[in-house]
Amino acid sequence: MVEATNFIEQIINEELESGKVTAVQTRFPPEPNGYLHIGHAKSLCLNFGIKEKYNGKCNLFFDDTNPSKEKTEYVDAIREDIKWLGFSWDKETYASDYFDKIYEFAIELIKMGKAFVCEMSPEEISANRGTLTEPGKESPYRNRTVEENLDLFTRMKNGEFPDGSKCLRAKIDMASPNINMRDPVIYRILRQTHHRTGDKWCIYPMYDYAHPICDYMQGVSHSLCTLEFEDHRPLYDWVGITLGFNPKPRQIEFARLNVTNLVMSKRYLKKLVEDGSVDGWDDPRMPTLTGLRNRGVPAEALKDFCARIGVCKANSEVQISYLEACIREYLNAHAERAMAVLKPLKITLTNYPDGKTEEVDFDINPSEEIKRTRKITFSKNLYIDADDFSLTPPPKYFRLKKDGMVRLKGAYIIRCDDVLFDDDGNVKELLCSYIPESRSGEDTSGIKVKGTIQWVNAEDAVDMEIRKYGYLLKDEEYPGQDFSERMNPNSVTVFNGKVEPYVMQGEYDKPYQFIRTGYFKRLNVKGKEIISEIVSLKDNFNK
Ligand code: ATP
Ligand code: MG
Repeated sequence: MVEATNFIEQIINEELESGKVTAVQTRFPPEPNGYLHIGHAKSLCLNFGIKEKYNGKCNLFFDDTNPSKEKTEYVDAIREDIKWLGFSWDKETYASDYFDKIYEFAIELIKMGKAFVCEMSPEEISANRGTLTEPGKESPYRNRTVEENLDLFTRMKNGEFPDGSKCLRAKIDMASPNINMRDPVIYRILRQTHHRTGDKWCIYPMYDYAHPICDYMQGVSHSLCTLEFEDHRPLYDWVGITLGFNPKPRQIEFARLNVTNLVMSKRYLKKLVEDGSVDGWDDPRMPTLTGLRNRGVPAEALKDFCARIGVCKANSEVQISYLEACIREYLNAHAERAMAVLKPLKITLTNYPDGKTEEVDFDINPSEEIKRTRKITFSKNLYIDADDFSLTPPPKYFRLKKDGMVRLKGAYIIRCDDVLFDDDGNVKELLCSYIPESRSGEDTSGIKVKGTIQWVNAEDAVDMEIRKYGYLLKDEEYPGQDFSERMNPNSVTVFNGKVEPYVMQGEYDKPYQFIRTGYFKRLNVKGKEIISEIVSLKDNFNK
């Protein structure tokens, strides 16, 4: 027996023990109307996690009952995203694969007297549905004969009636306290070309009716969905019980993942793409899986995040800093270190020989057990980050100041002797001297300095645009407001930085820790190569 890590696995364990279930099968059921986002990652980890844990199956099931919104582009993207997370599905299925079967089951329901063709308009139907406190009114078409219903439904299918003029409804209970059970519509007339079945159908089944059938036909034992479907479960069960499904799939609901500062609605994400607020679905600021991948977030870190937040039955919001901590933890262990400066400030070592270049050792990743180093070049002309120098340093300032000393990472201690200014009075260059006996690893200078800063060699550093990101959404300050009012207009900051050439030689998507700065990778944005932030080094969002 496997050890349960959440309430769903507990249920599965009990059912396996009692013999109610013998084979475990789940499915991941995206509607192909947009790209997957980080919320879907939670559902993917849950469904594929159960498959792996119970030696079961998990299909990729495209819910394409809604022909108007679905696109093949999305289907392809969804497949790629799931593969990126490292999951493999057993079968790829579509609701539309079962349209014939779903139709046959509707005929069966009619024959049982459990479904009828209704001629009320959608508006009339909803007007007669009643409220939470009042029962609904029965449709005047509710008591048609089976023959009449069969005839009308067949003619609906054959295209004899205009869109919306008739529908098929399950005959359940207009007085049910659950509004979903008040004779729900299960088929509608809709002349829409479907991305897979073309114009074969002009009637399409409704999600709540089609879903239990698709689950059953595929052999799903546990149909996992988010909490908003809890009220739909009685209908899910009604379909299965009425049609005699054995074994009947069981629907279990879990809480959606919400993360502060992130929008997790495909509809809204699509709006951002369409109105040009972002550079497409894979913009590195997007919470889509393709965006996260492009950003350089490792799939392992995302899966780790999903495992740590767990699966429960109560909705809640996870701090984005928690996601970032998972990414940072993974990259700390896996990313090579490199030198880069976001705001280059020129320094000249006045006592270093002209034209000389030497190599110093640089730790590839100090978090590794076995130390690995590589060589980086050092010369008279260097750049440090302007933020590491202060003209008016506060007390206990350990970086560089006039007449102060600092260690250049992996190299020498330097002293700032003079500051040169441009015509506007801004610091333009620092004239420094280096301490020849202070070379890292063989320091005999006896000088103790408290600060160590990064630098690049001006002789070989590469000029690069470096981008850092803020969140797309401002948070907290605007609870309850529409997303568009919460947009952060400054979610990208651009630096004209310099990076050591090593960064440009590595494979394209390789993440680096720019020491004392953050994790970055190369990125191609509309044909232009830039350096793009994955996650900052410091937790700047911990309340
Ligand atoms: P959206 O509102 O973004 O369109 P959706 O629920 O309509 O999301 P689907 O494509 O229908 O998206 O979702 C596929 C699966 O992923 C469903 O089982 C759904 O419950 C689950 N899912 C979607 N969003 C989340 C989320 N934020 N957290 C957990 N699971 C989610
Ligand atoms: Mg949906």
